[in-house]
Amino acid sequence: MDIKANYAKIKDSLPSHVTLVCVTKFRSVEEIQQLYELGQRDFGENRVQELLQKIPLLPKDIRWHLIGHLQTNKVKSIIGKVALVHSVDSLKLINEIQKESFKAATTTEVLLQLKIAKEETKYGLSENELDEILSLIASGKFPNVRVRGLMGMATLTDDFEQIRSEFQQLKRVFDRVKEFHQFDILSMGMSGDYQVAVECGSTMVRIGSLLFE
Ligand SMILES: *Cc1c(COP(=O)(O)O)cnc(C)c1O
Repeated sequence: MDIKANYAKIKDSLPSHVTLVCVTKFRSVEEIQQLYELGQRDFGENRVQELLQKIPLLPKDIRWHLIGHLQTNKVKSIIGKVALVHSVDSLKLINEIQKESFKAATTTEVLLQLKIAKEETKYGLSENELDEILSLIASGKFPNVRVRGLMGMATLTDDFEQIRSEFQQLKRVFDRVKEFHQFDILSMGMSGDYQVAVECGSTMVRIGSLLFE
């Protein structure tokens, strides 16, 4: 495993308008520190407990991204600690983020996660649920939540045409709503499919395993 070489290769393959989030779930503090020393500042974790354990052990200028499903009862513990929550997948969750952000007198930046994969197990909003939340945002219902854009995960498959069509679907939705809501982040693409995601208009990729192989 040569983290430095893997990191350089991934960075070189990304256009400058695409932000790399290094996904470090199950990875040690030393490994994160190694990437930090190469200049990386955006790191993603998918579990709240692991994220909260790592934050105090690492430099303060890291931008932490919560990329995994967030339960409403854990919202309070992450407010003020994360730069971006990628995984807002229900009205109940955004309501809770609003409530806890207000109490803490802060604003929380989030993405709305749209379900694009065909698999049953993936979290995410349907397009109708998305539109419902967008109209509540437009009516000023979440003054302490700043929605920056959308996130999605493609089906885990080696059928790249299917992956491409799912990313294109997400990009179409993004283009439909971005002007009105001033969205500037489209988070799509992981180790196995990030190149397709970038071709389809991703502005943020979340890469884990490719860094550590
Ligand atoms: C683990 C994870 C990733 C990174 O996956 P890799 O295939 O290891 O690059 C990206 N997004 C989410 C939501 C994840 O949980």
